Order: sequence, then structure tokens, then C-alpha cells
Amino acid sequence: MEIKKNIVVIGAGYGGITAALRLARLFREQPEYQVHLIDRNPYHTLKTQLHEAAIRRTAVSIPIDRIIQRKNIIFHLGEVTRIDAAKQSIHMGNKSLPFYYLAIALGSQVNFYNIPGLRKNSFPLQTLRDAQLIYDYITRLCARAASEPIEKLRRDMLRFVVGGGGLSGIEFASELADHAAQCIGNYHINPQEVEIIIIEAGGHIMSKMDESFAARIHKRLLEKSIKIVTETKIVSRTPDTVTLSSGKILRTKTVIWTGGIRMQELARQSGMKIGQLGRIIVDEFLRVEGYPFIYAIGDNALAMNPCSNEPVPAAAQFALQQGRLVANNIYADIVCGERKPYRPKLLGEVVSLGRHLAVGWLALPFLKKITFVGFLGNLLKTAVQEKHIFFLRKESRKWITY
Ligand SMILES: Cc1cc2nc3c(=O)[nH]c(=O)nc-3n(C[C@H](O)[C@H](O)[C@H](O)COP(=O)(O)OP(=O)(O)OC[C@H]3O[C@@H](n4cnc5c(N)ncnc54)[C@H](O)[C@@H]3O)c2cc1C
Repeated sequence: MEIKKNIVVIGAGYGGITAALRLARLFREQPEYQVHLIDRNPYHTLKTQLHEAAIRRTAVSIPIDRIIQRKNIIFHLGEVTRIDAAKQSIHMGNKSLPFYYLAIALGSQVNFYNIPGLRKNSFPLQTLRDAQLIYDYITRLCARAASEPIEKLRRDMLRFVVGGGGLSGIEFASELADHAAQCIGNYHINPQEVEIIIIEAGGHIMSKMDESFAARIHKRLLEKSIKIVTETKIVSRTPDTVTLSSGKILRTKTVIWTGGIRMQELARQSGMKIGQLGRIIVDEFLRVEGYPFIYAIGDNALAMNPCSNEPVPAAAQFALQQGRLVANNIYADIVCGERKPYRPKLLGEVVSLGRHLAVGWLALPFLKKITFVGFLGNLLKTAVQEKHIFFLRKESRKWITY
């Protein structure tokens, strides 16, 4: 029997699933190559919608088998524990898989920055499991608070601290504010006792966004009665308190930590060169420096924007673009064609501020932009998310989310 050459994609998030599907399509006439996809979960997570799942328990995952059905992709359910770049093999505990070409798309994980007590006493929001835990916790906490007779304890339960005023923190806090408004009515809670506080280390929230947009978002958050504390860090956390860099101590049962991300140690351990936040240094084609047969995608790749000379932000739209490019470049390396350099395209930015509201902009031809605020913005955000789902659905013909 002929031994096939493996093209392995690790991580079935935005970048990895796009790369694997594209590779399967490109290599369909090359039976000597086999595409493999590895993930620790049997589903693809729509990570950009996790804040909704954490509050409203919406469906944000799609089973992998539905996405890859009838495709030339072998899926492996497992935790990647080691990448042996020199010997060209991937290890999942005591199982291993040799590769001819590799695309690394393992995404990012939460960074607690070694803040005392934070890891133990706060909720991250990076995975479907995190969202499910938050949903269960907050649902129970609001119900318990409703019948708590001691006001001080009730207030501790109803004070929610969100660490980090970036995209995921803002989107989560907004969803929580909508949810709190509902609970207030349904459980007859005194609205004065509910507090949602965003703690941001920088001078303003949404530091990576245009300042005028950040200001609009700030205004909308205040309208939702969300408090915003800037230029302040969380310096420690106990089960009942948060200490801020200003010296202030807040009593709270709940901290949702969205204040930072970092990459896993796998690439560093395998000898690859690592840059900012542990991202893998790649060349203009997204190949890992020193390993022309290994590519990195999405949050894992320290891809540079040649126009600004700045690193491309960790965002789903870039992971999708890179997944497609990496598949094309691997095909060019192995079969035919010319490798193409990565040129990031910022197609727009949309921030959802609860169920019915979003603020954002979308790129138009000739360097023009259209901006959206309010319900229209929300429709735009939904359209952007649906576009990704439509792509997956088109690839797999039919499936449902669950
Ligand atoms: C709450 C939240 C909201 C966000 N909102 C937006 C938004 O509105 N717009 C936007 O552009 N970006 C948003 N982002 C960022 C965006 O989700 C990421 O940039 C994007 O998911 C990166 O894609 P990726 O393919 O690199 O990794 P991911 O999508 O994170 O996929 C990584 C995959 O690797 C798997 N994996 C990880 N480690 C292992 C291992 N050791 N073994 C096996 N499998 C492993 C994971 O299970 C996962 O399936 C948001 C992020 C969060 C957390």
C-alpha cells in the first residue's frame, strides 16, 4: 500500500478549519497527499460569539464531522502535547502523527499575568466550556441574590467586575447589562444594587480601535449603566474582593477576566522563534522562520502588516484570511503555482453592545467606509458571523449548530 504524505493542520478554529477545507479542495486530485485535522474538541467554536453563549446560552459550536463530511480530511480528536519540528511529527500524549507539511492554528489562551489569586478566583472567556461555566454561575448567582435578605451580601453578589476593556470584555459586559435588566424585572431586584464595572489598564477602552469609535462605545456603555474605570489594573483577587492599582478594594463574587491573551508554549518548546505574546515569528508567506514546511495561522502567527510594519492583531477575520492563504501556499510549494505574500485586509470592525445594538464600520471600495451604530450595526455583525457559517455550510452542504 502506498504511504501517503500527510499535510497536518493543528487547531480547528477559524484559521485551521479554513485551511483544512481549502487544502482538501486543492488536493482532491492528488491522492498521494492526505489532509489531517487535529483538535482537542470535536466541534468548531464560533469564538467571536462566546459572550452571547455565556449569557444567553446561544449555540456557538458546530460539530467537526458535519463540516468535514465527504471531504478528504482525517480528523483526530486529541490534545497536541508536542510539536517535533526537526523530526516532523505531532504528538498527542503517546500517539504521534508524522507530517510532510504542517499548519499551526492553535489560537490563544488566557493570560492572567501572574496576578495573585486571579487564576483561581475569576472566569476566563476563551472556550465554549468557559462560556458554559459563566452561564451556569451567573444564572444561579442572580437567582440566589433575589432571595438574599442581607443587603450587603446581595450587593456583593450583584457587583460584577470585568477585567479588561478590549473587545471581548466590552461585548460581555454589554450582554450582562441586558441580562441584569431582565433579572431586575423578573426577580424584583432593586436596580440600584446591580453594578457592572469594567477595569481597563489603558487610558481608554478598545485601545486598538479608532479613538472616535472607542468614544462612541464608551458613551453607549454608560447609557447601559456600565461603569468604566480606566488607567487602573487589577492587582490581586480573593474569592470576595478585587484590589485595584489605585488602592481601592471592591467587594464582589464575580470577576470575568478578559484582560489578556498569550500563546501556548508548544511552539517555543519545539525550538521555533517566538515574538510578542508568544506568537510564532513568520515570514511574509506565513512560514515559520527556519522551517519552510511549517506555516502558522491566526493568533499563533506574528504576521506583520507591511504597510504599518505593525503585527496583525489577533482577530477572526485575519485568521480566516491567513487560513486560506496558507492552504494556497502549501499547494504552491508542493504541486504548482507561486507562493503569495500575506497582505492583511481590514474589512471592518463591529462591536456588539448587547442583543440589539452594535457599533462598527465596514470597508467600501476606493478606501471609503460606512459606519453603523445601533440596530443596523447589530445586523451587520450578524451578517459578518453568518458569512463564516455560510462558508462552512457551503463546504459541507448541510449541518446545524448546537
Ligand atoms: C469572547 C471573544 C470575542 C471575540 N470577538 C471577536 C470579534 O468580534 N471579532 C474578531 O475578529 N475577533 C474576535 N475575537 C478573537 C478571535 O476569536 C480570535 O482571534 C480567533 O478565534 C483566532 O482564530 P484562530 O484560528 O487563530 O484560533 P481559534 O479560533 O482560537 O482556534 C484554535 C483551535 O485550536 C484548538 N486547540 C488549542 N490548543 C490545542 C491543543 N493543544 N491541542 C488540540 N487543539 C488545540 C482549540 O480547541 C481551537 O479549536 C474574540 C475572542 C473572544 C475570546
